[in-house]
Amino acid sequence: MSQKILVIEDEPTLSRLLSYNLSQEGYEVKVVENGADGLQEAVDGEYQLIVLDIMLPGMNGLEVLTKLRQKQIRTPVIILTARNAEDEVVQGLKHGADDYMTKPFGVAELLARVAAVLRRSQGEAVVDHQSESEEKVIALGELSIYPDKYEVVLHGDSIPLRPKEFEVLLYLVQRPGVVVTRDDLMNMVWGFDYIGGQRTVDVHVSSLRKKLEMNQETVQIDSIRGVGYKLVIKKNGRPA
Ligand code: CA
Repeated sequence: MSQKILVIEDEPTLSRLLSYNLSQEGYEVKVVENGADGLQEAVDGEYQLIVLDIMLPGMNGLEVLTKLRQKQIRTPVIILTARNAEDEVVQGLKHGADDYMTKPFGVAELLARVAAVLRRSQGEAVVDHQSESEEKVIALGELSIYPDKYEVVLHGDSIPLRPKEFEVLLYLVQRPGVVVTRDDLMNMVWGFDYIGGQRTVDVHVSSLRKKLEMNQETVQIDSIRGVGYKLVIKKNGRPA
């Protein structure tokens, strides 16, 4: 059964982006655009996690969170706070938020936080030490990627990647053979309202290629002119 996530967010661009990407990850997603309806939905529906914006019309996110916890509803909550609003973070955590993201953020990071919060909350209920100690790894021949540690190992050596380079690689590796647009990478890694231009994406991809000795045996990142990139997994030097 798929896990249900409630997104309470009034900015349609962001809520659509979150809804789309969470659904792609296999979650069932419901979006609500204001605090009062969000609170009602959180009380009535059986959600495994809530993504809650703080700046909402009417009842704000902190009030929603406070009321939820007063009603003894313990659903994990990740709050979305404005830039330079440390007070919102402090208040949110004090009122029972499990984690927070500061806008603008990359969707990839939010997806990672969602997975981590879900693992944590369900780990508490199940107490499964086996799966907790198991390390997540994506292995492609001589290349191993550890999503939880932001670590990449090639031919036994750890490769120093910048966090954004790591996130770009992880996103591409999870979609082998699929053309990923620069826009997708911008949204996923840098954030939906990042003002930096697509050149940033190109710079990171070219640096990744260098660091990973790409176009060798394991993987290569093809440029798709005017569109974006495609990661190709290779076997014996040829596309698998
Ligand atoms: Ca808002």
